[in-house]
Amino acid sequence: PAVPTLEIRGAAPIPQLGYGVFKVDPDIAADVTAQALAAGYRHIDTAKIYGNEEGVGRAIAESGIPREELFVTTKLWDDAHAFDDAIAACEASLERLGLDYVDLYLIHWAAPSQGQHVEAWKALIALQERGLVRAIGVSNFPAQQLAEVIEATGVVPAIHQIELHPYFQQRELRAIHAEHGILTEAWGPLGQGKSDLLENPAVTAIAEAHGATPAQVVLAWHLAHGIVTIPKSVTPSRIVENLAAAELELTADEVAAIDALDREDGRGGTDPATK
Ligand code: NAD
Repeated sequence: PAVPTLEIRGAAPIPQLGYGVFKVDPDIAADVTAQALAAGYRHIDTAKIYGNEEGVGRAIAESGIPREELFVTTKLWDDAHAFDDAIAACEASLERLGLDYVDLYLIHWAAPSQGQHVEAWKALIALQERGLVRAIGVSNFPAQQLAEVIEATGVVPAIHQIELHPYFQQRELRAIHAEHGILTEAWGPLGQGKSDLLENPAVTAIAEAHGATPAQVVLAWHLAHGIVTIPKSVTPSRIVENLAAAELELTADEVAAIDALDREDGRGGTDPATK
């Protein structure tokens, strides 16, 4: 399937639909990542804390796909926000991945209680200057901490990866991103199996109309909004199914019907402000 790409500051264009590997057991990470690459994914989202960078790296190496055709993201964990620790953590991730650079490096959580997000951001800027990472961004930043890193450094994150799905649409942050030219990336794009999202009648009706699956409809909704999305599955048929969502185009009315599913209490994961 032809996956659309978006321009991203610092790196080659980012494929809008990628493969996420949160909670993928290290023992199967190489196998499922290889399946994703064979299916046609060219964007992989991992993190130090997932413990599976080595498996992801092995699949990349064995795929034979030219490095420049891949977009690889990893993330700085909360225990390494101090400047020197962050530099060392990135070098260690690259070592485990077997790569000279990642296309995107993210601060995984702002963790406001630690108060080191600005220092960590300065480390990412240094890593970018050194060429170890192409684009730099953040994840799970409350609006205040996002403003603080921009204010302190004048460097705007290229992308912000946040929990985002039809039950939790993050309109406030998306408006801030639009003001600053920050891409929005959705984690938990399918709701992480924590709700009845994929059985919601609005979603299933659209799926039936297109001969598509509910997961594909939700992913097509993300794409229609210009959001980068990184669904996870370790089931071979779903790995393929999710990528094929790139070819599903929703009507404006269908997008609006899913827009109407946003909920006050739709958050499924940790509130970044409380960490
Ligand atoms: P997700 O919304 O992608 O849900 C994954 C789950 O949905 C699967 O385990 C499976 O149960 C189900 N599923 C997947 N495909 C399906 C299909 N076609 N039909 C029916 N059910 C299907 O949740 P996620 O894995 O938490 O998020 C995606 C990626 O985002 C992660 O793998 C990770 O890379 C990233 N992530 C980042 C953070 C962060 O803090 N930055 C947090 C969570 C996840």
